[in-house]
Amino acid sequence: MNNHYQILIIGGGNAGISVAAQLLIKRGNLNIAIIEPSEKHFYQPAWTLVGGGVFDLKDTVRPEASVMPEGVTWIKEAAVSFQPESNQVTTNSGANYTYDYMVVAPGIQLNWNQVQGLKETLGKNGVTSNYSFEYANYTFECLKNLKAGQTALFTSPGTPVKCGGAPQKIMYLAADYLRKHGLGNQQVKVEFVTAGGVIFGIKKYADELMKKVNEYRINLNFKHDLIAIDGPGKTATFKVIDAQGVSSTVVKHFDMIHVTPPQSAPDFIKSSKLVNEAGWVDVDKHTLQHTTFRNIFGIGDVTNTPNAKTGAAVRKQAPVLVKNLLSLIDGKALEGSYSGYGSCPLVVGYGKLILAEFDYDNVIDETFPFDQSKPRWSMWALKKYVLPWLYWHKILKGTA
Ligand SMILES: Cc1cc2nc3c(=O)[nH]c(=O)nc-3n(C[C@H](O)[C@H](O)[C@H](O)COP(=O)(O)OP(=O)(O)OC[C@H]3O[C@@H](n4cnc5c(N)ncnc54)[C@H](O)[C@@H]3O)c2cc1C
Repeated sequence: MNNHYQILIIGGGNAGISVAAQLLIKRGNLNIAIIEPSEKHFYQPAWTLVGGGVFDLKDTVRPEASVMPEGVTWIKEAAVSFQPESNQVTTNSGANYTYDYMVVAPGIQLNWNQVQGLKETLGKNGVTSNYSFEYANYTFECLKNLKAGQTALFTSPGTPVKCGGAPQKIMYLAADYLRKHGLGNQQVKVEFVTAGGVIFGIKKYADELMKKVNEYRINLNFKHDLIAIDGPGKTATFKVIDAQGVSSTVVKHFDMIHVTPPQSAPDFIKSSKLVNEAGWVDVDKHTLQHTTFRNIFGIGDVTNTPNAKTGAAVRKQAPVLVKNLLSLIDGKALEGSYSGYGSCPLVVGYGKLILAEFDYDNVIDETFPFDQSKPRWSMWALKKYVLPWLYWHKILKGTA
């Protein structure tokens, strides 16, 4: 069996498939393999809309085989360890694969277990999360079951997460849903309970989000980190750090709670030699080349690049990585440079979306010739109709 590949890609998600497709468009004779254990490929950004009851869950999943670019060898296994000095990867079957160049793209890990009691109660007792294909439909069920006098909590952890806006997008949809069904104005109490200290890191968008928070009469709780859930008892416990740095715990009752779990790089990445101190794949933030092992690149949610972890970022990273990897193969200088672009389509109600777009250091980088901080139907249509189509038909094909 030939276990050597010119380019070995770890992870056949958004980033891995995009990179493979783009490489083959540029150079059809490359010998590429993707290590990917999952039979299914997901379009995760639509799970917010699924939770809001306006997107069909089955349209967010396709067989992995259907997105695998022609000409790529699919190794249907999970990578478990790296031996970068000998250009080798070991998988869960015990097999070893070697490479000339490697692209590391296994995404981010959802650490459900870090919230005590969460795993046991997820999917019942009003405890839900759009961060999982399995529970996105349950979010809408919980929403529909809310009654006057009840409380809905929406949490956000202290770790980096994929799509930093997702914890609050579903909250605005919920608040809008309740208003439309005669339960607005705090008849159902809606609370954002976040480990963070601000609603959004960029003032221009934060100001508009605050208008929505006030309009929906949402209660904000900053510096509240979810640490435990009692599903049957309907309580959530938060660790709270006050302005003096003193920590205490606060227990809140809920009838529905949407949880965004703590996240990190996958364990097999964290225990490898590929990571920085915080456990993320350590790449140059502009070239995406590994800082120690020069024949390795990293892309997507798993890297240490300080951008918003989004599919939108992957779309801008992939052509840079492809350009630089081909230059490296050709013995040329790496000229591709990633700007840190990330985008956050902030759904703020049904038919209303603020399209935040920014580079490293929160420099605003908007696409359209109008003020994108204003909620618009056109941007909602972009998220609901255009982007899913673009994902399946262009981005995964390497043409967008
Ligand atoms: C609720 C939600 C809302 C979101 N909203 C948006 C949005 O509006 N806009 C936006 O741009 N982004 C959004 N995102 C984020 C976006 O989905 C991710 O940023 C994007 O998928 C990252 O791509 P990736 O390839 O790094 O990771 P993924 O697409 O997650 O792919 C990782 C792949 O690696 C595989 N893998 C895992 N472990 C191993 C292993 N050991 N060996 C080999 N392969 C492995 C996985 O099976 C998976 O296929 C959202 C995400 C969620 C969950």
